[in-house]
Amino acid sequence: MQTLMACHDCDLIQRLPHITEPGRVQCVRCGAVLHHKKRNSIERTLSLTLAGLVLFALANSFPFLAFKLEAQVRQTTLLTGIQELYTQGMPELSIIVLLTTVLVPLAQMTCMLYILLPLKFKKMPIGLPSVFRFLRHLQPWSMMEVFMLGILVSVVKLAKMAKIVPGVALFSFLALIFVLAAMTASLDSHLIWEKWETRR
Ligand SMILES: [Zn+2]
Repeated sequence: MQTLMACHDCDLIQRLPHITEPGRVQCVRCGAVLHHKKRNSIERTLSLTLAGLVLFALANSFPFLAFKLEAQVRQTTLLTGIQELYTQGMPELSIIVLLTTVLVPLAQMTCMLYILLPLKFKKMPIGLPSVFRFLRHLQPWSMMEVFMLGILVSVVKLAKMAKIVPGVALFSFLALIFVLAAMTASLDSHLIWEKWETRR
């Protein structure tokens, strides 16, 4: 079965050969990569998603940072930090932080799991096209690295005033950024659409 595809760089329409081995298909005119078939894409993405969910649970249940100022110790978790923003008169910011660092990454991983788990067991998830499109729309809204950068800047600034102890959640959060990036990169979207096309 051959599919017609327009190159996203130069718009040339060409027939995409059906490849079974991992590798790249390049545009005949401009050399852009049209399709990158990855080895064990579903299994790899699925394991990264599961790893991501474990890290997400850790990042949301353990202390993020602890501030030690003389005899006082204050601990924050990701969610209490967001709550703090809300009570300190920054409701808009707290909603954005909640959305971009907690809800969107969680939704991304849930969608991924919803799509990949049935596919792994040769089943077709109900409503795959809409869930997959929704997943694509979510991607620009995941801004965990921006949040991390903000944390680093404030830690450097606060370091002179108080002793700051990074918690388990901070390291889990950092690892989660990389795991989510790897999860997105290892997904072969052609393969997902191919599975949908050849469903029974
Ligand atoms: Zn091209």
